[in-house]
Amino acid sequence: MFRTPIKHCRNCGASVIYRVPDDGDTRERAVCPACVTIHYENPLNVVGTVPYWGDKVLLCKRNIEPRWGKWTLPAGFMELNETTLEGAARETVEEAGAQFEMEDLITVLSVPGVGQVHMFYLARLTSDVFDPGHETIEARLFSEDEIPWGEIAFRTVRETLERYFEARRRGAFEVHNLDIR
Ligand code: ZN
Repeated sequence: MFRTPIKHCRNCGASVIYRVPDDGDTRERAVCPACVTIHYENPLNVVGTVPYWGDKVLLCKRNIEPRWGKWTLPAGFMELNETTLEGAARETVEEAGAQFEMEDLITVLSVPGVGQVHMFYLARLTSDVFDPGHETIEARLFSEDEIPWGEIAFRTVRETLERYFEARRRGAFEVHNLDIR
């Protein structure tokens, strides 16, 4: 199980049980036997950017688990009351302290095994000076042949970087919808 099972009802605090609700549902849910609240669990959105400067992209060395010390694109969980684009921009500021202009979406990656959807936007850097936050050990630019492919933190980041450099070579950017299983 990739997410900790729900133990207590969010409404009344009673212990829940996992069962298929009686309303025609087909999946097991955490159902409260006391107040009958059904707790629906759905995928989380991870939003981020491919910040680029000329022929280089900005990667951040992670100062947090999981994958401490591995390189990633700036990305994180979307917050309530923000759009995907706002979340991606926020993460880029928080993790890299970068200055940039947000551009088009480049990848949408479903990761059903962990119940997540990752979305990456292009971000055109307007400065090559970075001020990374506490989640980042180091933020620096890499050309394609400098990318530490064996040290990339997540497969969604590797797939996005591959699509980005391929699009650059072709001179044509489009949205890639990918399934990571
Ligand atoms: Zn309850």
